[in-house]
Order: sequence, then structure tokens, then C-alpha cells
Amino acid sequence: MIENEKLLKINTVKDRLKGDTLIAAHHYQNPEIVKCADLVGDSYKLAHLISKSSARNIILCGVNFMAESAAILAREDQKIFIPDSDALCPMAEMADIKVVEKVYEMLRSRYNIDLVPVVYVNSYIDLKNFVGREGGSTCTSSNAKIILQYYLKKNKKILFLPDYFLGANTANAMKDVNARKIIENGEIEDFDNDYVKEINIFLWDGFCPIHQQFTLNDILVLRKNYPEIKVIVHPESKEEVVNNSDYYGSTEYIYDMIKKSKKGSVWGVGTEGTFVQRLALENPDKKVIPLKDARCFNMAKINLDKLLDTLQAISDNKAEKYQVKVENNLKINASKALNKMIEIVESSRI
Ligand code: SF4
Repeated sequence: MIENEKLLKINTVKDRLKGDTLIAAHHYQNPEIVKCADLVGDSYKLAHLISKSSARNIILCGVNFMAESAAILAREDQKIFIPDSDALCPMAEMADIKVVEKVYEMLRSRYNIDLVPVVYVNSYIDLKNFVGREGGSTCTSSNAKIILQYYLKKNKKILFLPDYFLGANTANAMKDVNARKIIENGEIEDFDNDYVKEINIFLWDGFCPIHQQFTLNDILVLRKNYPEIKVIVHPESKEEVVNNSDYYGSTEYIYDMIKKSKKGSVWGVGTEGTFVQRLALENPDKKVIPLKDARCFNMAKINLDKLLDTLQAISDNKAEKYQVKVENNLKINASKALNKMIEIVESSRI
């Protein structure tokens, strides 16, 4: 079947479901998936909009922690589906709950500090459950600064996980905030008491293998070839990359900045390659160049065939294998952590 036929079939099955099924796609999805989507956004936008949707079936085209987050926030009458449950995020695998709990307790007992955990949404439900239970919050790359400031103003110290670079880059942008990597390969660094007193944010050692590919040299080469270029990168990138960019921010921020920029402007973009390719196509009056063509192959596991199979299975009432279910005993605290983020962000807009 060629692409147009598949798109037609997807729309036909969707129509049969009478508007009760919503397709939500992350920005890093393939362009043909984006074409079929009712909602397109980054993690925060999707989590927020899905939680307000009236649709009873939601197909999440993204990696599995995103579908899991949607399932945590879903109402009783909503079902969440993912077309390929093998679409994983390697970063989410980098914080094992048993190690996290051990380090958290060790930090509190060894140094006697008032600590709260903040977890990037790129994580699994067991971690979100732990964070909700301990009075912490999730965050995304679009709101990490707001969430960290919220707890720092309450004189808390923060254990930030799993992404070292999002934590470090966000802390670097705040005045008088001292962030240090406290953990290396599951082992806690041995600091003395006075040193720990000075630390505001303890960072885990996770990272995104895609955003780690960008280097300072990528930026220097582009600046040499295009002196007028503006470089914009995602905060999961290395500190030297963020520090040498003109702008940095979430995927949604990058999307909006380029869309709103002047005709003829030239952009060097440091984020996922499929998304940068779409940015170039959607902005033909500007020049959009990737720092490097770094693709997330887990995001690319979702394709039109799998989306069509999922829709067909929902229509036939046989979609059990695509449905994302979460354990009730973890859901309560995990949803507390996600809702805390939404509450902090929305109240900061007032
Ligand atoms: S781009 Fe990085 S953080 Fe995002 S899903 Fe892929 S591996 Fe995970």
C-alpha cells in the first residue's frame, strides 16, 4: 500500500470510530504520522492537552514513557494505546528505582538535609510514584526552571533525575544555584558536610544518546560557513553546546522560535533530526540546518502500518495488546507528581 492509500485508510477507520479516538504525536515522529495526528507537541503540551481531551481512545505516537504518562493522567473511561510498545527511551532506563531510593535515603541520613526529588518526565511510573510520595514533582524541558525555582524558594535541596544535562543547564541559567553530579554509575560521591551544605541541586548521571551527539565543533563549523546563523539547541545537549548557542529551550520553544523568525533567517538547530527535517520543510522561507543529523530510532519505530493496525484493532474491539495499563498502586502518587507539575506551571502564569 502506498502512503496516500494508508492515510486514506487511517482516516476511514478513524471516521468509523466517530470522533471518539484521538491521535497524539510527539514532534519527533515521522512526518507521515504527524500528518494523521489530531495533536502534535512536546511532552508537556501532549500531557496537558490529553488530560483535557474528551476522547475515550487515545493513541500516543511517541516513546513508551509518554504513553505511560498519558495512562497515569487518564480518566476511568479513557484508554491509552501505543502502536509499538518497544519504542523505549534509553534515558528513562538510566534511573533504577532501587538505586534512586537508596541514594535518596543515604543523602538524607548522611547529611541530614531537607531534600525533595524532581524527575524529568522521561522516566517510568515507579520513579514518578516515588517522587509523588516524597512531595516532589515531574518536570519537562519547557518548565524545569519553574519547577526547580519553586522548591528552591522553599529552601529545599533537590535530587534531580535522570538527565544530568537538563539539570546542569537549567541550574547554570539560575543565579547563585550550585548543582553537582552526586552519582556516578549508581555510586554516591563522598563529599564532606560543609561541601554538601553549599549544594542546591544533586544531579543524577543520565543522558540522552541523541542530544549527546552535538559538539562545540558542530557549532563552530556552522558559524564559519554561515556568519549570520543563529544557533538554537535543546537543553539535553552538553553544557558547552548550550553555552555556545544563541538560544536554547524545549522542542516546542524551538518550533515556535523558528516559525516566528524573519523570512531569510538562518538557523543551526541542535535537536532530533526528524524534527529538524520537518522544521526545514515547514519553513521554506528560512534556512534550517541541523547541527548534526541525529535521529531517535525509538521514535521512528512508530509507522503508518502500526498506526493503522492499532486503529483497526480498536475498531474491532481487539486492541488489548496495544493498550497501556498502569498499576493502580503506583498511579495515585505518580499522578500527584504529574499534576504537581501542571499546578506549579499553571499558577506561575497568573
Ligand atoms: S530523543 Fe533522547 S530523550 Fe527523546 S526519546 Fe529519544 S532517546 Fe529519549
